Amino acid sequence: MLRIFLSNGWQIFLPLDCNGNFEDAMGDGEDALRNLLRDLGENPDGPDLAKTPGRALAALREIAAKSDECDLPMATFPAMAYGDWIRLDRIPFGSLCEHHMLPFSGAVSIAYWPAGDRIVGLSKLVRLVEWLSKRLQLQEHFTVRIACAIYEKLQPRAVAVRVEAEHSCMALRGVRSPGILTTTYHRCGEAPRWPF
Ligand SMILES: [Zn+2]
Repeated sequence: MLRIFLSNGWQIFLPLDCNGNFEDAMGDGEDALRNLLRDLGENPDGPDLAKTPGRALAALREIAAKSDECDLPMATFPAMAYGDWIRLDRIPFGSLCEHHMLPFSGAVSIAYWPAGDRIVGLSKLVRLVEWLSKRLQLQEHFTVRIACAIYEKLQPRAVAVRVEAEHSCMALRGVRSPGILTTTYHRCGEAPRWPF
């Protein structure tokens, strides 16, 4: 980070390293978080908080660094004729709400009705939830994304997804009401009855 002092007392920060090359986005993100701490009335250069911007950025990336392509293989394998729902209840997840950049977390339940004899390894569905949770998003869109990804990749007769989550943007700010569960649903395909 290159800091330039102007005669009027202002400082300009440029994301350049000592060779004049632009630093990667980590520098920008850390600086933004340093400014955020100042905005909250803290001293980000003091000994207590000096490493906080770097840690906070790493944490945010771990929670929400988005991968555009879901390259998870959904290899299917044949099973004996099976004509009903296969259901996984309450897969835990955590994600970041795109309105407030605050976490929401809870559980995803997935059910699919295989087409023909095509079934998938159950852990693939757990990995899909983990994959799709890592981005800034709304719970409603998260629910639809999971259902559509399974419907597209696995091509089952039907899929149903239920997401239950607590939002820290409701628990810690605004109405400040911890413990409220928000439930969303999405269904794709046709089925004689739905599991939820
Ligand atoms: Zn929110």
